[in-house]
Amino acid sequence: MEVQLEHPADEIKRLQRCMNDLVSLLALPAIWNGGRPCDIVQTLLDSLLRMLDLDFVYVSLTNPVDAAPSETVRVAQSQEHQSQEQMFRPRELCAFLNRWLGDDPQKRYLQERSQIGDEEVSLVSCPLGVQREIGVIVAGSRRADFPRDTEALLLGIAANQAVVGLQQARLLSEQKRVADELDQRVAQRTAELAAANEVLSTEVAERRRAEEALAASEHNCRLIVDSIPGLVALLTPAGEVELVNPQLVKYCGRTLEELRLWGTSDTVHAEDLPRVVQVFTRSITSGDPYDFEARLRRFDGVYRWFQVRGLPVRDADGRIIRWCSLLTDIDERKRAEDALKRSEAFLAEGQRLSRIGSFSWRMETGEITWSEELYRIFGFEPDVPVTLDLIGTRVHPGDLPLMNDMVEKARDAVTDFEYEHRLLMPDYSVKYLHFIAHGIRDHDGRLEYIGAVQDVTQRQNSEEALAKARSELAHVASVTSLATLTASIAHEVNQPLSGIVTNASTCLRMLTLDPPNVDGARETARRTIRDGNRASDVITRLRALFSKKHILAERMDLNDATREVIALSLSELQRNRVIVRCDFADDLPLVTGDRVQLQQVILNLLRNASDAMNTVTDRPRELLIRTERDEDDRVLLSVKDAGIGFDPQTADRLFETFYTTKNDGMGVGLCVSRSIIESHQGRLWATLNDGPGATFSFSIPRGPDGAIGTDRNRDVRTPAVADTEVL
Ligand code: ADP
Repeated sequence: MEVQLEHPADEIKRLQRCMNDLVSLLALPAIWNGGRPCDIVQTLLDSLLRMLDLDFVYVSLTNPVDAAPSETVRVAQSQEHQSQEQMFRPRELCAFLNRWLGDDPQKRYLQERSQIGDEEVSLVSCPLGVQREIGVIVAGSRRADFPRDTEALLLGIAANQAVVGLQQARLLSEQKRVADELDQRVAQRTAELAAANEVLSTEVAERRRAEEALAASEHNCRLIVDSIPGLVALLTPAGEVELVNPQLVKYCGRTLEELRLWGTSDTVHAEDLPRVVQVFTRSITSGDPYDFEARLRRFDGVYRWFQVRGLPVRDADGRIIRWCSLLTDIDERKRAEDALKRSEAFLAEGQRLSRIGSFSWRMETGEITWSEELYRIFGFEPDVPVTLDLIGTRVHPGDLPLMNDMVEKARDAVTDFEYEHRLLMPDYSVKYLHFIAHGIRDHDGRLEYIGAVQDVTQRQNSEEALAKARSELAHVASVTSLATLTASIAHEVNQPLSGIVTNASTCLRMLTLDPPNVDGARETARRTIRDGNRASDVITRLRALFSKKHILAERMDLNDATREVIALSLSELQRNRVIVRCDFADDLPLVTGDRVQLQQVILNLLRNASDAMNTVTDRPRELLIRTERDEDDRVLLSVKDAGIGFDPQTADRLFETFYTTKNDGMGVGLCVSRSIIESHQGRLWATLNDGPGATFSFSIPRGPDGAIGTDRNRDVRTPAVADTEVL
């Protein structure tokens, strides 16, 4: 091979150029700083193409930082070859060079003359990286002397610079990637944190709101509990005292802590505590509400009764979250209940002693309530439901119509009742009941009867005994009265008897006349008969007064009965110079009663009136007997005298037994008379006259049929006494 020596000046020039190129190459990293690999490659290719005067230059990057493996070829523009580009067509050139380079990375430097198309080209490869790990550069020139040593040097330096630049770019890219990734991660994390923070903030806000709401509701709850006008305690689900309102603290005079120990302190009365603990524990265990009464200690040590009611407060799932306890002071009610119980006991005892039972009867429901004593009186088991039918089984059959009548009247109208009826007990004994009831309507207009029933059997028996005794007493009195009347009776009997004797003698004398005076004899005989009848009447009445009889009820004319009494006592009255006046009502209704007893009363009044006028000398001893109907349509009889009267102070005493102002008096007449009149459902009383003397009167009910006694009813044998006859 022929070596042509270069001219020194050319060589100097070439070397200078080489030096310049070298400086340019060394400056490349500064240019590349921060650039991308593709930019580096472009700059490198342009620089090499120009510096080394190449026909083409090729760079293959095996592992670029941020892209796929790449091949880049730059073909020089040449004026001498118009269609050069077509000669070194990049795609074919790349394919050729790939084949030329092969896969063996050990082949780091290749240099040879090759035929590419029609052209013979000197090819030089230079690895990027020790093992081409970065890539490879291939420079191609048609010059045969390519590469000269300076060119090889420049190519090597360019390759090294490219490696440095690419590594820096890689590093930078990596750094950027890492930084980006970091940024991305930071951003992502930041976003995540922001999101989490957002959620957290929301949660915190919600929690705060919930807490505020809870606090507000607790506050409200507390306000409500504090303002309840009663004692309130809130307890945990386990039953421990959690909160008490000020009222409870004030009442007990104890702190919340002290009240928590209620189970072992004296807050609850010792007698109530075991029961309270038992009831309370059972409720806390079962979850059922509790309700009990117990005595709680007040701050001053006084125990008062409370009603304690507790309800469980549950959450949405039904779990008990607390117990709410309300303590209501029922001390006064309790005391009232006790008092009521006591008074009920007193009432029951009183009813038992007095044998008075009470009842109520609600018309609307037919509900009948009896007191204990009423059950006893009727002989029913206590608490048996009382019905009218049940009562009917005990009422005496004879009194059932009475009872039914009463029931009907009670149903018809609000009225008051008072009547007596009998019970026929299972042992056939008879009980007498006095029944009194008062009808009322409640505010809804419902009718109710409230009444009392008294067992008057004993009284009835006593009254019967008394009536018997009275009757006997009356009999005695009659006898006594009659004793004083004996003289007048004797006189009364004597009168007709002497009349009979006289008339009989006259009659005989008239018959013995010649001719006999028959008409005169007939007349005297008639008078004899009349006097005989008179004597007989006297005897009859005398017998009646002496005979001891029970009260006999008969329809009678009081005018007639009075006339008989006047007739009986006429002689005595005449002896006392008493002027008897009668003022008998014509339309006097018949009465029902015991004729003899009523006549005893009239007789007694006449005798008293006569006695009262015994000492009267300055005025006529006038006695007025009057019969009339009073304003109540009863029959009234009054005996008015002009006697000495009586002291108004002692008016009531006149009717007392054994009260008398007379030397020979017994003081039983008026008393017995009043008994007789009362047994005839009547009334006997005394009044002082406007003028001198007194008036004694009685009134008795008229008979049932309203019949009126008349003169026509008068017994023909009754002595004729003119209504206004003056004796
Ligand atoms: P006695 O006639 O045996 O005294 P009474 O019971 O009949 O008993 O009378 C009681 C008393 O009432 C009489 O003693 C008399 O004082 C008084 N008294 C009765 N009737 C009259 C009368 N018509 N006027 C004044 N006092 C009378």
